[in-house]
Amino acid sequence: MVNKTAIITGASKGIGKQMAKTFAENGYNLLINYNNSKKEAEELCQQLNSKGIIAYAYRADVSDRKQVDSMVEFCIKRFRNIDLLINNAGVAQSILFTDITQDDWKRMIDINLTGVFNCTQSVAKYMISEKKGKIINISSIWGMVGGSCEVHYSTVKAGIIGFTKALAKELGPSNIQVNSIAPGVIQTDMLKGLNDKDLEELKYDTPLMRLGTADDIAECALFLASDKADFITGQVISPNGGFVI
Ligand code: NAP
Repeated sequence: MVNKTAIITGASKGIGKQMAKTFAENGYNLLINYNNSKKEAEELCQQLNSKGIIAYAYRADVSDRKQVDSMVEFCIKRFRNIDLLINNAGVAQSILFTDITQDDWKRMIDINLTGVFNCTQSVAKYMISEKKGKIINISSIWGMVGGSCEVHYSTVKAGIIGFTKALAKELGPSNIQVNSIAPGVIQTDMLKGLNDKDLEELKYDTPLMRLGTADDIAECALFLASDKADFITGQVISPNGGFVI
């Protein structure tokens, strides 16, 4: 058991929730961040607490720097240090480029990109002073190859990849590894706009002939967070079933 502390943003649902369970099973103390899904986050927290895991649910909108700083201070007060930050919180929107409004664009940038900046800058100062830490940023295959009808989403996810690479260079001398996971199509609420036919077509286009699960991503994150990945930094790993090669 590792006895380390992790902040996972957007851990009330989907990939973040599964990562919280996986990391808890592997000895991590957790701060489970959420924004709207209080009930889900608190239930998850209680479930983990009942198994003897130290976990707190904390509401903070990642796009709001003050809320993020309060969350990070709370984490430091409770756990004294932060070993791992997973920037997972995100929103998606499928829309024609010509229909994207200024508000849609701003919301996408604020949550998916400024959110990553806010959480990382707030946590980095503690990691730098400890001379260790790991940061994992959740991008997307669309950040690698671009997705039609998701121009703003693809833009921020590509931004996360640039952010990861640049920060890995800057924080490497402080013994902090910064990596990105770019998932393929993963079965979570994020896919709820797609009908059965769309999902079948996506499966058909995937060499491994299935959609991904939150567990596929959680296992990848667990590896990147482990000592086994100490020489890996600035990389993008894409668990996508071969959808993008
Ligand atoms: P999801 O089930 O919709 O979960 C999204 C999570 O993000 C929720 O816990 C939500 O919390 C949180 N969140 C949203 N806005 C937030 C904010 N302003 N502040 C804090 N938390 C916020 O989606 P998912 O599929 O698990 O996605 C997780 C990450 O994986 C996202 O970054 C997404 O872009 C990425 N991804 C997903 C897929 C996929 O196919 N599912 C593929 C590639 C990449 P509340 O509900 O509490 O607000």
